[in-house]
Amino acid sequence: MTDRLSTVPATASETVQRSRAVDRVVRGVATSDGAGVKLTRVLTQNLQRRLDPFLMLDAFGTDNKDDYIGGFPDHPHRGFETITYMLAGRMRHRDSAGHEGLLENGGAQWMVAGSGVVHSELPEQEDGRMEGFQLWLNLPAADKMATPWYRDMPAAAIPTVALPSGGTVRVLAGASHGVAGAVTRPVTAPLYLDVHLPAGQTFAQALPAGHNAFVYVYRGTVQVGDDGAVLETQRMGVLDNAGQADGVVIAASEDARFLLIAGQPLNEPIAQYGPFVMNTQEQIYQTLADFRDGRFATIPASAG
Ligand code: MN
Repeated sequence: MTDRLSTVPATASETVQRSRAVDRVVRGVATSDGAGVKLTRVLTQNLQRRLDPFLMLDAFGTDNKDDYIGGFPDHPHRGFETITYMLAGRMRHRDSAGHEGLLENGGAQWMVAGSGVVHSELPEQEDGRMEGFQLWLNLPAADKMATPWYRDMPAAAIPTVALPSGGTVRVLAGASHGVAGAVTRPVTAPLYLDVHLPAGQTFAQALPAGHNAFVYVYRGTVQVGDDGAVLETQRMGVLDNAGQADGVVIAASEDARFLLIAGQPLNEPIAQYGPFVMNTQEQIYQTLADFRDGRFATIPASAG
């Protein structure tokens, strides 16, 4: 329903002469974070180098309030960006810079934590479905201490491309079929697509050589590339970086929905300690000292 508000026709086709193939199929790891929120960590720390500039992808989806009701109380971030995409549910966020907003059905929040924020992400519902994703995107060394900012994008602010052959592509970042996404970022140049493909249809997307890319299927089953590697629901396919490939071709044998995410690798050292991602251990020590000594601002009292 909300898709209709922002649906636009494709203004160009995506020409792919040769598709990338699936290099590796990854099954996420069930875990919990925040105050007991159950989720699947799809992109784990051991894939950070392979999928540079992406640091993490969490998928959450449940009808059981006990799995999400605790939310993510006050916690800090420094040195990267978080992109939260809600398929269903309502989540209130509030941060140390005095901002707050409501993230709901089909909307997204793009946050650049930069030099540091403390924020909370709490469900604003006591029952019903909560489903979505949180992606962590690294910042270049030169931008890790940039001023934090964020943008809330209601569903209508995310362009949705109607594919000529059927299906839709929601363009959170980058561009697809001639349509620019809601967000463009320098250096890492992320592509973030949510593709809905009816059974029997094929989707093509050009991808720059050298960009790392992956597909995460959250409904149905798809086949990727010339060899038709199968990706079932809740599987991530890491796409290869073969020099000859100029994109990816994905076919749906049944109605399918998947994320296609790609970006330019930074090729810089990654030093992570929980919610802080810097380049060196010394910068992590400095970050811990800054946080301990209150050099991250505190969250203002709720207006309510
Ligand atoms: Mn957070």
